[in-house]
Amino acid sequence: APTSERPALTIHLCAPRGFCAGVDRAIQIVELALEKYGRPVYVRHEIVHNKFVVDGLKTKGAVFVEELEEIPAADQERPVIFSAHGVPKAVPEDARSRNMFFLDATCPLVSKVHKEAEIHHRREREILLIGHAGHPEVIGTMGQLPEGTVTLIETEADALDFQPKTDRQLAFITQTTLSVDDTAGIVEVLRQRFPDIVAPHKEDICYATTNRQEAVKAVAPEVDAMIVVGAPNSSNSQRLREVAERAGCTTSHLIQRASDIDWNAFSGISSLGLTAGASAPETLVEEIIAAFADRYSVSVETVRTAEETIAFNLPRELREAPTQAP
Ligand code: SF4
Repeated sequence: APTSERPALTIHLCAPRGFCAGVDRAIQIVELALEKYGRPVYVRHEIVHNKFVVDGLKTKGAVFVEELEEIPAADQERPVIFSAHGVPKAVPEDARSRNMFFLDATCPLVSKVHKEAEIHHRREREILLIGHAGHPEVIGTMGQLPEGTVTLIETEADALDFQPKTDRQLAFITQTTLSVDDTAGIVEVLRQRFPDIVAPHKEDICYATTNRQEAVKAVAPEVDAMIVVGAPNSSNSQRLREVAERAGCTTSHLIQRASDIDWNAFSGISSLGLTAGASAPETLVEEIIAAFADRYSVSVETVRTAEETIAFNLPRELREAPTQAP
């Protein structure tokens, strides 16, 4: 429609949004490994939970597997990369026993939680992990210690029901991508029941998760609808959608790409909040703005609630290596 006939729409763009330092590093590890070692490079699990990113790396020569045994015998010498979510201890052990060359793209902020678990265990504490069952990060964190050592707490009800298995001092750690508010509620229940429970020195919920939720809280009450760009299996993206809903925006959708937009859900709106999960590339945000601009007369306003400058070093093997000649 000509501009004059299109309804006006203000897009409130959350900032920060999208890629965090851990996701950025993980993608760079795959790209640099492909440059340095050629194709194929194997990646255990989706490097980050985003189909667009995974498909892009597949075209460049990355092969995604869920378990190491899926790597064909002829390719056992090819590099294998562990995803940003982290892996149970058994995975690098398995890779070593098969003489595989692996690169670990586990986010340093996830590795930090792994270390906390080990320290609590060494100090003979009983450990609780607040997180979501089945998420690879939770599987990886629980897998730092022998099976049955860590108890998973998913909800306040779990925290109320929890019965210590030992008479050891209790300690809790958390998944990095939880809802800040839900987690505070769970921790409150644990603290009331077990006043001596040992807490993380500094939040396990990472800076990126916290900042993206804060921006959504600022925008959601001001808009008619909210879109979170992200994948259904992305924990932090799911949490952003819930945070928007709880902050008062009942039309809150998690969308992977512009082609997924159900336009009926957005009919009659005059303002839209837009953010992206930590694993969603900015091009997908731009694609969604463009799709709205085809139907609305769009103006974009950025709502920034934090500045982010954090970046993580790459593994030594990739920092020092000369790249392969093309
Ligand atoms: Fe690391 Fe947080 Fe990004 Fe996860 S969301 S990769 S913990 S920075």
